[in-house]
Amino acid sequence: MDSKDIVKFGLIGYPIKHSLSPKMHNAAFRKFNLPYRYCLYPLKTDDFNNFNGFLDKENIKGLNVTIPYKEEILAYLDSKSDSVAAIGAANTIVKKDEKIRGFNTDFLGFSKHLNEIADPCRLRVALLGAGGAAKAVVYSLIKDKAGIISLFDIDVEKGKDLVRKSKKWIEDCKSDAAVNQVESVEELDILNKDLLINATPVGLKESDPLLVEKKFLHKNLIVYDLIYNPARTKLLAAAEEKGLRFSNGLGMLIYQGAESFLHFSEANLEISKVAAVMEEALTNRGAEC
Ligand code: NAP
Repeated sequence: MDSKDIVKFGLIGYPIKHSLSPKMHNAAFRKFNLPYRYCLYPLKTDDFNNFNGFLDKENIKGLNVTIPYKEEILAYLDSKSDSVAAIGAANTIVKKDEKIRGFNTDFLGFSKHLNEIADPCRLRVALLGAGGAAKAVVYSLIKDKAGIISLFDIDVEKGKDLVRKSKKWIEDCKSDAAVNQVESVEELDILNKDLLINATPVGLKESDPLLVEKKFLHKNLIVYDLIYNPARTKLLAAAEEKGLRFSNGLGMLIYQGAESFLHFSEANLEISKVAAVMEEALTNRGAEC
């Protein structure tokens, strides 16, 4: 078979060379006997601007979309899932019958993983960050009936935008949640929260500071860092040192990948089965495709 004839899926974004997605998806395609291939497509802005041409050039049936195109991709969609319409970002697209449909599996990935760790109902949450990932997190928390969500982002406008969006989500979900924006980490009132989430990129680099003073990490707090590489950010190391429950974002990554896989393959499989295959694949890391 010509490589052009192989049905392909993949990831677009820039930069993406360290992505774990090929390893996860190709392992699942193999496990469930699907003759597909998942590849990395690092697209710079000029290439992305010719997105339809790119899609036609290869036999691509579906894509994950990451930074910086999760919002820009909306312009190319023929239809959106409810979560894409609500959040305003898509991380998964599927091409079928010449139509492109967009999904947001980030919010579902976070929700699935958080529910394994804690009951989100009435949870009091302190959130660092109000960017793309934070939007998916807040949408998920509101759908799961969380209580209070206090958020802080150094970009005040992004925080305002997220609070504005969340008002609509609360209305649509008939939720009792309350989302408020604060002006500093101190004002997050972490001592009166059950869950602290880091949805900023702070912690990716070893030189990054610890955003939250250790005195705020109280014994009943659960700490969730969306970052998964490194597996232990400074924040998670501090939580561990204090004996708290904590998690990195690997579970979220795996569940969003498993949900995307179900959209790609249209297979009638339980998400937990796909997630288990992907998790196993990641224990044996290495570049692929
Ligand atoms: P993003 O859109 O750039 O949003 C990050 C936000 O954090 C920005 O608004 C940024 O403000 C803000 N920020 C930066 N430093 C801050 C600080 N010191 N205090 C408060 N806010 C600060 O990025 P994203 O796509 O949301 O991703 C955020 C993190 O989540 C990344 O580390 C990413 O790898 C991770 N993530 C994980 C998963 C997963 O599956 N586990 C999925 C998605 C994302 P400025 O723009 O002004 O810097």
